Amino acid sequence: MTERKRVLITGGAGFLGSHLCDRFIKEDFHVIAMDNLLTGNLDNISHLFRLPNFEFHNYDVTRFVHVAGKLDYILHFASPASPIDYLKMPIQTMKVGSIGTMHLLGLAKEKEARILVASTSEVYGDPTIHPQTEEYWGNVNPIGPRGVYDEAKRFMEAITMAYHRFHGVDTRIVRIFNTFGARMRLDDGRALPAFMAQALRGEDITVFGDGSQTRSFTYVEDEVEGIFRLLMSDYNYPVNIGNPEEISIKDFAEEIVKITNSGSKISYEPLPEDDPKQRKPDISKAKEILNWTPKVKREEGLRITLEYFMNLPEFKKQTVA
Ligand code: UDP
Repeated sequence: MTERKRVLITGGAGFLGSHLCDRFIKEDFHVIAMDNLLTGNLDNISHLFRLPNFEFHNYDVTRFVHVAGKLDYILHFASPASPIDYLKMPIQTMKVGSIGTMHLLGLAKEKEARILVASTSEVYGDPTIHPQTEEYWGNVNPIGPRGVYDEAKRFMEAITMAYHRFHGVDTRIVRIFNTFGARMRLDDGRALPAFMAQALRGEDITVFGDGSQTRSFTYVEDEVEGIFRLLMSDYNYPVNIGNPEEISIKDFAEEIVKITNSGSKISYEPLPEDDPKQRKPDISKAKEILNWTPKVKREEGLRITLEYFMNLPEFKKQTVA
């Protein structure tokens, strides 16, 4: 019997992190999930606790990170990741993207582990080129409210490349575009959970601005597949992993009203500061290097996600015994 590969996943109790835990368990890895539960939730990984090849550590990676034994891979996914979360926790967001990343790069160097860091389409800010290729340097306001997330992730990319170039650490950088699926927090303030919760409660759908801003939504299973392939590749530069199917936020709100069969109306609220006007990944690199393209249509992904939300205690239909 060959020894299991060991992977550390920070943010392992979060939305993406927990799906990554599932994927690595499926691949028969030994998974060490780390999370300080600031925005993560143990419910996302409780089904893994009984497994001998899964362990969880409630730990804040902005403190010195130690893991006993060998490590083959590290995935750094810890961070508040929705605009209202990082507006509520600006310092923690900056620390986990900067100090946290430094600790994990140091750990990767020490253990001679390969490390993949979770960057974001936010490095492109409010992009002036469309769709966004990895060569685009971005248009970020460093001192705006979103700057805490965007600049933390830009710093993350810069220091990751520095560890790669200076120390020869085996690094990967994924730029993640808006991803959705089960285990998103209903109250994380992002468009999808906000709209679904409003539709299910029969409340107005709150579209910010005139809703003409666009996003490109990726179903979580596709995102995880892309991340897995990137980790297993030998490519050290950033790669966009996102579904290039672009939609305006107004059309997205209407799509959710339709899928939920809701009578909700759309109401318009002010656009948050620095809200990007458009976002769509150019995925030529992912196609060429990883042979990856998204497989799940938005509507199909939305139906699966809706089912998850409808099974939450708030929406679950009470059946009389
Ligand atoms: N948005 C909206 N209503 C909401 C939440 C978000 O209209 O209740 C808009 C938001 O202004 C942005 C888009 O939906 O233009 C996507 O927002 P989200 O927070 O999901 O992701 P991000 O802005 O980080 O891409």
